[in-house]
Parts: sequence; C-alpha cells; structure tokens
Amino acid sequence: MQVGVLALQGGFEPHLDVLRSLGVAARAVRTPRELAELTHLVLPGGESTTLHHLLTLFGMWELLRARHAAGELVVFGTCAGAILIGRAATDGARPPRLGLLDVALERNAYGRQVDSFRAELEFEGAPLPAVFIRAPRIASVGPGVRVLARHGADPVLVVGPAALAATFHPELSGDSRVHQRFLELAPSAAVVS
Ligand code: GLN
Repeated sequence: MQVGVLALQGGFEPHLDVLRSLGVAARAVRTPRELAELTHLVLPGGESTTLHHLLTLFGMWELLRARHAAGELVVFGTCAGAILIGRAATDGARPPRLGLLDVALERNAYGRQVDSFRAELEFEGAPLPAVFIRAPRIASVGPGVRVLARHGADPVLVVGPAALAATFHPELSGDSRVHQRFLELAPSAAVVS
C-alpha cells in the first residue's frame, strides 16, 4: 500500500497528520511521478477550480482518471476533492469533474449566509463530529454507491468502487475512523463516466 495526499493547494497537511497517526507512511504528492506510485490518494479540500487547473497544468488530471479506471488507485475526496472525484449536478457546471464516483455534486450549495457550520453525524453506529466549510451538496447518488452518513436528508459521506467522498472535513474532527475506512478500500476497475 502506497498512500499519498495531493499537495498542490488546500488543506492537505491535516490529512497527512491523520494518516500518519494511523501508522501509515503518507506522502505529499505534487508530481505525476509521485502519483504513479500510489495505491491510495486523498484529494483534500481547497478550491476546486484551482485544483482542476493545477492538476491539468502538472499533467495529473488524465493520469488520475487512467490509474483509477485501470483499478490501480483508490481515491478519497473531501469537500473540493469530493467535487472533483464526482460528477457535475448540471450540464456544463465548472470545474470539470474526474467522474471517479457516481455521485453528482453541487458546489457551495449551503448558501451564502451559512457558509460554514459544525454538525454531529452518525457513522458506523457512533457520533462523528463534522465541520462543513463552504461545502458542496450531494444531489444524487448512483446505484453502485452507498451512503455512510447523512446530515438531515443529505448524504455527506458516500462510498463506491475504489472511491470515498465526504462533503465535510473528516481530517479536522479528531476522529480517524473515516480515514481508516479509506485505507480499507481496495483498488478496483471502475468507470462511471
Ligand atoms: N467551496 C469550495 C469549492 O467549491 C470547496 C470548499 C472546501 O473545500 N472547503 O471548491
């Protein structure tokens, strides 16, 4: 197992800390060469348009898609990272999406007044504190995807073949169970779009 966190922009350091606290030698990933060695990649929160630009600029966008489609890579997207690994909720929505997980995400869906909030979720039968920061909303979930946690009616933590997505920030909750769940996922050949 080779675990990395995309470190081009956004909140990658807390993910490295959580993974290292679980005994994993997680690496910061900034180049296609580093990406090519991984079995598990976290795409952190940040700004999804900027992340798309940087992934394209550094030649990692297509490589990410190809390695996931070939069943070589498990991905975990949080917030902006979740936006990128899913699909767009409407045609032509920006930024483009990787389409590695069959969920449609709408950016900045919780409105301007309440951009950020905390909530207590339930995950695996126990409470999970969650921080939402200008979070996207999961508008629809495909047939191969399982909802692991909800906030009200909204799915906020979902898993599909070789892909996990959280619209909140599990790396900031002081609870490592979501990262543990990510490390338990195995690569599998999965094409959703
Ligand atoms: N609002 C950001 C975006 O749309 C995501 C925010 C985050 O990652 N905390 O890219």
